Amino acid sequence: KKININAPSRNYDVFIGNNVINKYSSKINSLAGYNDSIIIVDSNVYRLHKEKIESMIKGLKGNVVVYKFKADEKNKSLDSLKKIFDLMLRKNLGRSSFLIALGGGITGDLGGFAASVYARGIGYIHIPTTLLAMVDSAIGGKTGINYGHTKNIIGSFYQPESVLIDTEFIKTLPRDELLCGLGEVIKYGLLIGDDFFDYVAKNYRKAFDYNYSFLNKVIRESVSLKGSIVEKDENEKSGLRKILNLGHTFAHAIEVEQNHKIKHGQAVIAGIACALHLSNKLGMMNDEYLEKYLSLIIEFRNEIKLKQYNPETLYKIMFRDKKNKKGSINFVLLEKAGKLIIDAEADKRDALYAINNGLQYF
Ligand code: NAD
Ligand code: ZN
Repeated sequence: KKININAPSRNYDVFIGNNVINKYSSKINSLAGYNDSIIIVDSNVYRLHKEKIESMIKGLKGNVVVYKFKADEKNKSLDSLKKIFDLMLRKNLGRSSFLIALGGGITGDLGGFAASVYARGIGYIHIPTTLLAMVDSAIGGKTGINYGHTKNIIGSFYQPESVLIDTEFIKTLPRDELLCGLGEVIKYGLLIGDDFFDYVAKNYRKAFDYNYSFLNKVIRESVSLKGSIVEKDENEKSGLRKILNLGHTFAHAIEVEQNHKIKHGQAVIAGIACALHLSNKLGMMNDEYLEKYLSLIIEFRNEIKLKQYNPETLYKIMFRDKKNKKGSINFVLLEKAGKLIIDAEADKRDALYAINNGLQYF
């Protein structure tokens, strides 16, 4: 029921299952090693799962301080951090307290960053509540906040003491949030190999029926893969961790160009379509594989709608963020599922080809 992640900076367990936070509530203090705690919680999640969360809180020892906030990108901010630190000081939470982040990726990024700098770092437990956070953002120790107009520009690498993935939270997730999680799951399919990709392609509809055997399997596979990459390249130094950015250079540009009107996971699906076309154009992926992988992406054509977009603007955004010394852009591309190419270079003409072909479906 648990997956161990032995990262260079910390060795910790990820517990996965229905109701794990209630099963483990009396153990959370010992997982974190300390008594007093602050819970940073998404107010939406608190409202939807009030009883469950309050019963978890009852199982905690010591003083428990609750900080509820509206989880939107605007609040993934320095201002929220200040409020959290003010509250922690007012409640006398010292260096032997710990922090619980309970919510989606926004809550995890904000709470994790607060934990990483308060008193030079206190223990932190992450309880992800969106599918995207369960398969992706809760694993790997990237934390951060937005500043000015730049997303995630202030942050740290900071591993939690433990991650508790309680799949019961998924029950209240709206369809478009499930779709976002699936975007990252499709990415893992392409990173892991054809067996897992084929499983996802055949069964993804089950996510929308809240089918637990499907959800558990994709969470496990994703956590295991991301965990094993983080063990080898925790701070994105050797390059291996870069493979997790498959589709993301395009996706980030799409998010910016669309003024953040599109959700990250949906942009990832569109970004993967571009990466597939680019892999094919540069001769890395043959037509047969291109068609196979695209046929899953295309199933989402009616659920992901881009406002009119400008390919030149998209290219300029990518160039600004990712250009290398030679003036071309580096992408993560692939030959087939499980066979990745890191730092593949593409010039402007090929990048525009990928944008135009990849985004034609949406
Ligand atoms: P989120 O935290 O914004 O949650 C999305 C929405 O779902 C919110 O409205 C939230 O209130 C709601 N919600 C959360 N749990 C729910 C539940 N159980 N039932 C019903 N509604 C629920 O979004 P997210 O997609 O989880 O995360 C996106 C954020 O994660 C971005 O800020 C992104 O930068 C970050 N991120 C970080 C990493 C990382 O490695 N640290 C990776 C990917 C994304
Ligand atoms: Zn992502």
